Amino acid sequence: MTALAEHSEILSANILVTAREQVLERGEAFNQEQVLAVLQLPDEQLDELLALAHEVRMRWCGPEVEVEGIISLKTGGCPEDCHFCAQSGLFTSPVRSAWLDIPNLVEAAKQTAKTGATEFCIVAAVRGPDARLMAQVSAGIEAIRAEVDIQIACSLGMLTQEQVDQLAAMGVHRYNHNLETARSHFPNVVTTHSWEERSETLRMVREAGMEVCCGGILGMGESLEQRAEFAADLAALEPDEVPLNFLNPRPGTPFGDLEVLSGTEALRSIAAFRLALPRTVLRFAGGREITLGDLGARKGMLGGINAIIVGNYLTTLGRPAESDLDLLGELQMPIKALNDTL
Ligand code: SF4
Repeated sequence: MTALAEHSEILSANILVTAREQVLERGEAFNQEQVLAVLQLPDEQLDELLALAHEVRMRWCGPEVEVEGIISLKTGGCPEDCHFCAQSGLFTSPVRSAWLDIPNLVEAAKQTAKTGATEFCIVAAVRGPDARLMAQVSAGIEAIRAEVDIQIACSLGMLTQEQVDQLAAMGVHRYNHNLETARSHFPNVVTTHSWEERSETLRMVREAGMEVCCGGILGMGESLEQRAEFAADLAALEPDEVPLNFLNPRPGTPFGDLEVLSGTEALRSIAAFRLALPRTVLRFAGGREITLGDLGARKGMLGGINAIIVGNYLTTLGRPAESDLDLLGELQMPIKALNDTL
């Protein structure tokens, strides 16, 4: 055995003890090497790991769960080639280009607010917004504000400085732009733009005073080392929220034939990301149904997650909002109130 392998084995053997002292007690995030040791834990230690990740979340974030709804303002026909995405116009996936009108956008915001959600995220499948999309977003936000009391987030791809300033002036509370995967794996996932371009948008968003929402998708063929690298990349960014998706291989996309992550691997990853991001809003996003099934929602909520998306995702169906909200009631986890998020 090499010295490095031996070191890694010693680290793994004690990793939960270290996590308790370092992350739970002192609130100090796990680094890349420590996250990797967590990702390598055997299945027999999964329950212990999840329980610890839950304690970390309760200690450093509290019991509240942030609920968010998302709506697609412009669907499909995107010129980029993100290999997981059914909305790319470059693949044969069946998602067609479509726009949502303002009355339907306002209605979706109303329905979202009714669930108790505090965030409503307007999403568009684009490389970055053009003037038409910016105008539509501006009109949409104004119409929502007139009728619904909810924070508005946007996810409109890569931005120019001018667009960042415009969105900040519109009162956009949080901006989502995912780095998607580890920097070293990114070129295997997207070739039409770079990790650095994405990162630049995030820098401008932060500097303009909007909250940064940045996560990605696990199970896109990345190694465990790269998954740990991604967790460390995100921790360095210090985002306010990290949405964690699991690949749901969509027919017609280059990743359509990848294997779905196993439930245990998905749960281990959630806990590992919680240890890397002890104070961050960690949101269950797309793909959890296919990876974890019905039981997974409960295990994830008790294993480090503290935010959910209710209802449907952008191109696939989620679970009905009621079943998630019932689960939170059952677990005695209150939905974060709007005035707590201001
Ligand atoms: S992930 Fe976004 S940028 Fe990439 S193809 Fe899909 S919609 Fe376009």
